[in-house]
Amino acid sequence: MNDTRTYRLPDQQAEGHRRNGPVGVRAYAISEEQKQLGAGRRYYLRTYGCQANVRDGETMAGMLEQMGFVRTSDQTEADVLLFNTCAIRQAAEEHVLGEIGQLRRLKEQHPDRIIALCGCMAQEPGVVENLLKKYPQVDLIFGTHNIHRFPALLQQALKGERVVEVENEQSSLVEEMPVHRTFAHKAFVHIMLGCDKFCTYCIVPYTRGRQLSRPLSYIIEEVQALQKDGVQEVTLLGQNVNAYGRDLGLQDGFTQLLEACADTGIPRIRFYSSHPRDYTVSSIEAMRDRPNIMNALHLPVQSGSDAVLKRMNRGYTAGQYRELVQGMKERIPDLALTTDLIVGFPGETDAQFQETLDLVDACSFDMAYTFAYSPRPGTPAARMTDAVPEDVKKERLNLLNQKVADHGLAHNKAWEGKIVEVLCDGPSKKNPAVYAGYSRHNKLVNFRAEKAEPGQLLAVRIDRAHSFSLDGTAVSGEIEYNE
Ligand code: SF4
Repeated sequence: MNDTRTYRLPDQQAEGHRRNGPVGVRAYAISEEQKQLGAGRRYYLRTYGCQANVRDGETMAGMLEQMGFVRTSDQTEADVLLFNTCAIRQAAEEHVLGEIGQLRRLKEQHPDRIIALCGCMAQEPGVVENLLKKYPQVDLIFGTHNIHRFPALLQQALKGERVVEVENEQSSLVEEMPVHRTFAHKAFVHIMLGCDKFCTYCIVPYTRGRQLSRPLSYIIEEVQALQKDGVQEVTLLGQNVNAYGRDLGLQDGFTQLLEACADTGIPRIRFYSSHPRDYTVSSIEAMRDRPNIMNALHLPVQSGSDAVLKRMNRGYTAGQYRELVQGMKERIPDLALTTDLIVGFPGETDAQFQETLDLVDACSFDMAYTFAYSPRPGTPAARMTDAVPEDVKKERLNLLNQKVADHGLAHNKAWEGKIVEVLCDGPSKKNPAVYAGYSRHNKLVNFRAEKAEPGQLLAVRIDRAHSFSLDGTAVSGEIEYNE
């Protein structure tokens, strides 16, 4: 097999990648020849990680189908196997490497089969070299900034070349890429790529590059097109949506964007993820004043200790976070607030962990994603000394999870007996005898109904609360929502 390394810029600067001036916008292009590549062939796609990755996976599925490939969930019958990877945690990486390791036999049985890896892992220093050396079954590797080139890269790989294309930085924004949406009734919309925050534990600014916002008009056109297509709910995606538009010179760009999206009339708007430092009062008021912006907010705090937050380079204190939450709840009393929390960051003492527990009590989150810290090579935190022992991390995580669950249950109990609007996703994956969907406050609701279709907005009476979900029954007739 020829080894074609188209280009690779492996330097991972301590402060992340630098962009030389603003980037342009151009349209995605695919040749007629590339559109024929998949005729009579099947693809298997596995996506790991966050919603941004899921959205990228939808784009690559759209490209593969534009090339004529048909999707299969059976690896043994796939002509192309694509792994869309995540680098945020060591465990996810090990899982991918384990899975790719097992594909050696499949490749030997059918040497024409293409095994491809893309996403954040490809952007990490040393990973490509390791894959090339230890995993001869991998034919194609491309990075997060090279997705628009996927058809051309796959075409090269199908000719028998071993192809690597990983850039450090997005050279231009590429619009009009195809998409195969996971759901017909709800959609993810990228509003920006990358992040400028450089939290010391996080690999994202290195794997996804510096912040790059899509022009507002493109986003609104996409939301309008989705609405025409029957989509009921859009989730605006970015690593730090509150900073949207700064690189475009917009003042308070996120509020402008929220209001413009609300004006399209699409029934439900959500956004993910936010950074406490960049919140503006105007964006909170837009949430309050526009009924199609959902009253659910994910606002990662990470720690309740000022000393830990400083070492994390989060740029706010626990007191500032509490004030922000208080201001939000004064404006939106029924706001459903969720967060991310890390325990066992280097140097975290028992007293500092207690401050996190205190903050959870003070803010009373509806739900939290909790993590025991694990170092990501290449990040500043990975070079910090004073690691917290694993058993201490585990103990702290258990205590924290119990507290989070208690608050979740208390919030959810308040919904019992009330009628809420639920956007149905279809039968529940865990129990097909009931349907599943999400309320306006982003609560997972499992409900009984005679019949419910994906994409249908239903009135559901809440019968029973759990820590992280609600059980209910669809009701009909004249409905007065209690939310
Ligand atoms: S704001 Fe989020 S994505 Fe950006 S560096 Fe911090 S943790 Fe990573």
